[in-house]
Amino acid sequence: MRRFLLASLWVSPLLFCVTASATTEQQAQPSSLISITPANTFINDSILPQIQSWSGASETLLMAADQPWATPFEQQGYLSTPNYDDTMAWLDKLVDSSDLLHKVNLGKSPQGRDIWMIVASSEGAETATALSNNDKATVLVQAGIHSGEIDGKDAGMMLLRDISHGNKRALLENVNFLFIPILSVDAHERSSEYNRVNQRGPINMGWRTTANNLNLNRDYAKADALEMQHLIRAINIWQPDLYIDVHVTDGIDYQYDVTFGYNVKQGYSPSSFTWLETIYRPAIEAVLTEQGHIPGAISVCDR
Ligand SMILES: [Zn+2]
Repeated sequence: MRRFLLASLWVSPLLFCVTASATTEQQAQPSSLISITPANTFINDSILPQIQSWSGASETLLMAADQPWATPFEQQGYLSTPNYDDTMAWLDKLVDSSDLLHKVNLGKSPQGRDIWMIVASSEGAETATALSNNDKATVLVQAGIHSGEIDGKDAGMMLLRDISHGNKRALLENVNFLFIPILSVDAHERSSEYNRVNQRGPINMGWRTTANNLNLNRDYAKADALEMQHLIRAINIWQPDLYIDVHVTDGIDYQYDVTFGYNVKQGYSPSSFTWLETIYRPAIEAVLTEQGHIPGAISVCDR
C-alpha cells in the first residue's frame, strides 16, 4: 500500500447551530443575508450554554431551500440530517445527473445495509485503475464513522453538489475526490433526539457504536467490524494519498469552531507528520481564518 496521510477533522456543533435558526422566509434569501438568532429548537437547548452568534464566508456555501439541488439538510432549515434512504436517494439523483460522479459499493453492514462511496474525478473514472491513470492525488473523505457526528455527511453532499452543478468543478483539475457519506450505516439509523445530550443538533442523530456495539474509530488495527474490513479493503484498492476522517466535537465548547488533528511526530511516518505540520496545517488554518473561522490544530485524541 502506498503511504497515505491521515487527518481528522472535528466540526463544532456551533457551525450547525448558527445556521439552525433561520426562518423559512430567511432561507429564501441569499445565504449571506441569513440572520443568525439564538436557536430554541433542540431537545437539550435548555441545558446547553447559550449559543453565540457567528457570521462568515462559509455561509455563502449554503443553498436556499427552494433551489433544485438543495441538499435535504438545506431543505430542512439546517435542523436535521436525512436518514440513510433519503441520503442515498439524493446522492443517486446527483450521481445520475453528472458525468463526473460514480457510486461504488464497499460492502454490507451487519444489518445488511450497503456502504457506499462516491468517486468524483474530472474524467468520470469508474474504477481505481482508471482513477490512478490520471496521475492526480486522491483524497478520501469519510463521514459517519461516529454517525451521531454527521455534519460531514451533509457538508460532503453540498461539496459534491457544488463540484457537479456549482462553481467548484475546478477542484477536480488537481485532485480526485472519494467520499464515504456514512461509514457506520447501522448506527446512523439508530436515530434519536436523545443520543447525545451535550451536542446541539441535528434533531435526530445516530448512535456512536455499530449494531455489534463496536466503536469503528477503535477498530482500524484489529478490524473486528465488517464496516472496518470494507473500509480497509477500499483504502488498499483506491490508494488515497490523503485520508480525512470527519467527526463532530460531541458538544465540547472550544474557543475554536473547527478543530483538526493528524499523524503525530512519533507516528508511523515522521515525513508524513512533517508534511502535515508544515504544508497542510498552515494552508488549512489560512483558508479557514480567511472565511471567518477560528481553526484549532489539536492532537489526534480520543473522540
Ligand atoms: Zn467521533
